[in-house]
Amino acid sequence: MKKTFVGILITLLLSVVMAGQKTGPKVLISADMEGIWGIVHGNQTSSDSPEYGPARKWMAEDVNAVIAGLFEAGAGEVVVNDSHGSMRNIVADTLDPRASLISGTPKPLSMMQGIDGSFDACVFVGYHARAGTAPSVLDHTISGGVVRAVRVNGQEMPELGLNAAIAGYFNVPVIMLTGDTETCAQAKSILGNGLVTVAVKEAQGRYAAKNLPLDEARKRLREGAKEALQKKDQAAVFVLKPPLKFELELNTSAQAELPTLIYLVKRVNPRTVEFTSDDYLKGFKLLRAVIGLAGMS
Ligand SMILES: [Zn+2]
Repeated sequence: MKKTFVGILITLLLSVVMAGQKTGPKVLISADMEGIWGIVHGNQTSSDSPEYGPARKWMAEDVNAVIAGLFEAGAGEVVVNDSHGSMRNIVADTLDPRASLISGTPKPLSMMQGIDGSFDACVFVGYHARAGTAPSVLDHTISGGVVRAVRVNGQEMPELGLNAAIAGYFNVPVIMLTGDTETCAQAKSILGNGLVTVAVKEAQGRYAAKNLPLDEARKRLREGAKEALQKKDQAAVFVLKPPLKFELELNTSAQAELPTLIYLVKRVNPRTVEFTSDDYLKGFKLLRAVIGLAGMS
């Protein structure tokens, strides 16, 4: 009788200790839309278009294939941050029920909302190349109508680089990226060859692509995610070290006017503004504020 009581006590204590421990790596997925299988045009990524319905379903399915691979590789927790436009693209009950979903906007860290030092890895799904890449589906940087280029310490940055540096700020590596072939190449050139990439389509122009057969795309996404998490230690943590100079080249000279209302921001030529920061996260947030102001002109 006494032995049974002690046994129960030990079992209870163990279960309390286990509940407080991570059972596997914690992964954040940042999911954009332009690099999702099947998507080739802005009408598919805009909520006011009849073509949006199927596209948001494809987005959830690409993400679900990645989630499946992560859990197969032993992930303990997966958090998905919806990262496109309204950030309400994934219909909540279409996501793999093992993952949690950050939905909606605005969010302080935008496409990287949710990240902190408790994560072991980050995955970018459905990403696109920076403004001025060809051929590449829907290439742009943050805001197509406003931003011509973003440079940090002289290096031109796609969203994938700016966002990877947020993960890097918290010492978290980006282990995988999915999108079109050009975006995958751009990601490797910035984040290194330790990154696993899965190209689900090959651009034939800005608004055209050859998609992989659907079954093949989902298989590669699942297997790629599994491989990426298994070899996560080979992925580099991407850090942009201060002091940091952010340069923002705008599409028009008018867009460079309102950003200079912020005393930290200088106009260095008719359509380029710049500022410096001793902290990447502060710099990133100021960049978003400046792009928001620029977009009002
Ligand atoms: Zn997007």
